[in-house]
Order: sequence, then structure tokens, then C-alpha cells
Amino acid sequence: MDEISVKNLEVFCHHGVYKEENVLGQKFLVDIISKVDTREAGKTDELALSVSYGDICRCVKKEMTKQNDKLLERVAERLAECILLQFPQINEVEIEVKKPWAPVLMHMDYASVKIKRSWHKVYIGVGSNLGEREEYMKLAKERVSGLPKTRNFKSAAIIETEPYGYTKQGKFLNTAYYIETLYTPEEFLDKLHQIENEANRKREIHWGPRTLDLDILLYDNLITEDEELTLPHPEMTKRLFVLEPLCMLYPRGIHPLERRRYADILEDLKGKEQ
Ligand code: ATP
Ligand code: CA
Ligand code: CA
Repeated sequence: MDEISVKNLEVFCHHGVYKEENVLGQKFLVDIISKVDTREAGKTDELALSVSYGDICRCVKKEMTKQNDKLLERVAERLAECILLQFPQINEVEIEVKKPWAPVLMHMDYASVKIKRSWHKVYIGVGSNLGEREEYMKLAKERVSGLPKTRNFKSAAIIETEPYGYTKQGKFLNTAYYIETLYTPEEFLDKLHQIENEANRKREIHWGPRTLDLDILLYDNLITEDEELTLPHPEMTKRLFVLEPLCMLYPRGIHPLERRRYADILEDLKGKEQ
């Protein structure tokens, strides 16, 4: 991916652990490296098709002077987030915040913190088979699409399906969502659990009836083994009610472990179930 960079942008502000730093202030230098596709701007000479580095500099200065933080880590985190939220063309940004006058009473060029942050693509499986199912599906859509630090929400159609696992329960409504987020997988799962709780979700019988179930199917192409968050969702390739809505959004996507397209996995599964 192409890059638009600003190096050693000078901003005078008041971050630091020591009180003197918050009162007197000091010079900070900031590097901002933005991943942007510059091809169209390169072909047409149109600034609107790229990102103005002047606007990036103004955004950084405004964010750095709006509040005082103790840590460079915090300053860098705020800058990355504000750039990714303000400039939709930027998918990934690297930020280095340098403190050339850091009060350590020794000579050095600078102390710095460098981070890389980006938008992540997430697919979510949604299900409800208890109570006012349509209302819970509506709530899920409103809450997930309204989450802060997200963009480009899309929903598949809602399908009605037979229960899975524990079969002595009502039919399900199922769908899938796509969304882009700045949250980590753990933070995102936590947000989904909060929405389930808002829908009065109780965890009684495993695979039993539920007002609302929100599972992370995919987070980029991340593979994890953690019991709290297994990615891709371990059961997704065995479930028609997951694959059908997922294929409405992402038929040509490739499963990171099976290395096959979702549309092909769905076709095979349909064949087996007949
Ligand atoms: P299944 O995961 O087989 O669809 P379930 O959705 O009924 O079953 P829950 O009771 O909703 O299971 O969740 C149990 C735990 O699964 C959660 O507390 C969560 O920490 C963990 N979990 C692991 N991986 C994921 C994932 N990818 N998405 C959602 N929860 C997950
Ligand atoms: Ca589930
Ligand atoms: Ca779940």
C-alpha cells in the first residue's frame, strides 16, 4: 500500500508525568505514516481523491493540545484513533511521538513511543429464538451498527432456521453482519456481550434457547485458540444457519484455516444435509 508521511511535525504541548511538564510544556515531534491508495490521485491530480497532509498536521496539533496526558502511549493512541476516524481513505496509520526534551538529565536525541493501528474487518453471526425474536434482531442491528469506533456496517437478510444441537426449542431467526472496527477482538466481543445482556440474554442450556446470540465469526484473517475467543468461530463451517447469511455478504471469502471459499463450503454442507 502507498504511504503519505509527515516526519517530525513540531507541536508544543503539556504532556508528561511530572507536574512541571504540565505547567511549562515542551516540544514534541510526531511522525505520521498513513497507508493510502494514492493511484487515482496520481492519475488525475485531484486532492479530493487522496488525503491532505496539511489536514493531517492540523488534526494532530488539535488533538495534542486539547488535553494533557501523562504518557506518550496515551498521546499516540489518541492520535491514531483520531486520524483513522477523521480520514476514511486511511486504512492503517503508524504514529511515533517523540520527546526530545524528556526530563531525564542525560543527553539523548529523544524518547519515543511508536504504534501502528488500523481498521479491522469483522463478520458477526446473529441468532434469536426466544421471546420477541424480531424485536431482538432489530435491537441487535441498531446497537451493532451504532457502536462507536466502527464504520461500513452491512447486514445480510434474516432467515428462519430449525434449532441446532439442543432441538427441543423454537425456530431461530439468523443473520450475519459485516462491520469495520478499531476495537481489538476482545474489546469487540465485550461490546457484543453488552448488547446480548441488554436483550436479557441468560446462559442456561448450552446451545439452548436465547433471546440474542452474537458471535464473532471472523476478525480479519486472525486465528486464535483462546477459549474465551476462538477465531475463526470453530463451528461456523458446520452450520448452514451461519454460512447462508455469511455467503450473502462474503461468498468469495476464504476460510483462513480450511483455505476454501465460503460459497463452496456451503454447497458441500447442503449436499451432505440432503
Ligand atoms: P457456540 O459458540 O457454539 O455458537 P454459544 O454461542 O451458544 O455456542 P455462548 O454461551 O454464547 O455459546 O458463549 C460461550 C463463550 O464462548 C463466550 O463466553 C465466549 O467467551 C466464548 N467464545 C469463544 N469464541 C467466540 C467467538 N468467536 N464469538 C463469540 N464467543 C466466543
Ligand atoms: Ca453461537
Ligand atoms: Ca455466543
